[in-house]
Amino acid sequence: MEIKDEKLYYIGGVVRDELLGKKSFDIDLTYDGDAISFAKNIKDAEILRINEPFGTVKIKYNNEEIDIASTRSEIYPQKGHLPVVEKIGCSLKEDVLRRDFTINAMAKSTLTGEIIDYTGGLEDIKNKKLRVLHDNSFIDDPTRIVRALKFSVRFGFDLDEHTQKLQESYLANINYDMSYKRLQKELKETFDLNIWAAFDKFVEQKIYKLLALQDFSLPSYDFSKLIEEYKPENIWIIYIGLLPEISNLPLTKAEVKIVEAYNAISLSSDAEDYEVYKTFKNIPIESVIMYSVKNSKLVENYLSKLKDIELQISGNDIQSLGIAPSEKYQQCFDYVLKEKISSPNMKFEDEISLAREFFSIN
Ligand code: ATP
Ligand code: MG
Repeated sequence: MEIKDEKLYYIGGVVRDELLGKKSFDIDLTYDGDAISFAKNIKDAEILRINEPFGTVKIKYNNEEIDIASTRSEIYPQKGHLPVVEKIGCSLKEDVLRRDFTINAMAKSTLTGEIIDYTGGLEDIKNKKLRVLHDNSFIDDPTRIVRALKFSVRFGFDLDEHTQKLQESYLANINYDMSYKRLQKELKETFDLNIWAAFDKFVEQKIYKLLALQDFSLPSYDFSKLIEEYKPENIWIIYIGLLPEISNLPLTKAEVKIVEAYNAISLSSDAEDYEVYKTFKNIPIESVIMYSVKNSKLVENYLSKLKDIELQISGNDIQSLGIAPSEKYQQCFDYVLKEKISSPNMKFEDEISLAREFFSIN
């Protein structure tokens, strides 16, 4: 990014990440004033998109796509829901004061590199603290509680004492009329990290109460290592799907299926391998991993020994034995499978022999 201007600032996460020596996901820029007219006047910049009500603009400059926001202030007419823009082109200080934590509220001049820190972010970075900017912060936007959790596990930061008190008092008196879409986005970003300590804090600090009043305790089995090893696609729902109540969340179809399949699992603790295989084989791997909180031995055994067992014989092979297609085929497959599960190294010829045995062919 080579655009330099005395009123153009890096802001938020990018400034924080640079101070922490971490790579940023995205680069946020704020223009102190009207970013749209500023962008229109940049020599050799192509305007790609303008969002007038938010005062933001996307440009192409030196083959790079760059978003620039105008400084803006916001208000929360409906607590827990999206804020509305109060003023576009407000002062940089007002823009900074609408943000979540001091470490996310610093600006850096694109011209001089000077850090503008109105809220004590530099000090908090040094002390590894997450501090809200005002006492109503969690009431305005309770998703910040999950954001704090996310940053705390990403950076190894703790809540500042007063912020922790504010969080406790909000969680003791939650306004459930909130935007669950935003909450879900933060939960997903947090738990997709697959850090067990996040789940621990989520439970210990009772952050899960944002979803429902019922109590929940931390599972004694840490399944993050299974996620690490088997790399399921939908990680966050493995954690959040365990909660007693999540119907407020706008889950995707795939996520709903994972939770429903998990809730439908019915296995006794001494279930045979064949029964375990039949139960787990046709449900998402996420649901299987969830079940480890109920019986980790059974899940570990399935994932390490049974999961990849497949029959080699098919309907065509049975037909070649001179058997006309019927529902007996499925019974035959189950018969062979039962054997194969106890002797997974079985060869194709052994499967054929078993099929012949099933149909009493000599
Ligand atoms: P990440 O590295 O996860 O992208 P980030 O700090 O850049 O972290 P974003 O969600 O990209 O986080 O948001 C960019 C900036 O917008 C934040 O640094 C913060 O200043 C502000 N922000 C984001 N979400 C909120 C929120 N819920 N309330 C107040 N300010 C927020
Ligand atoms: Mg960001």
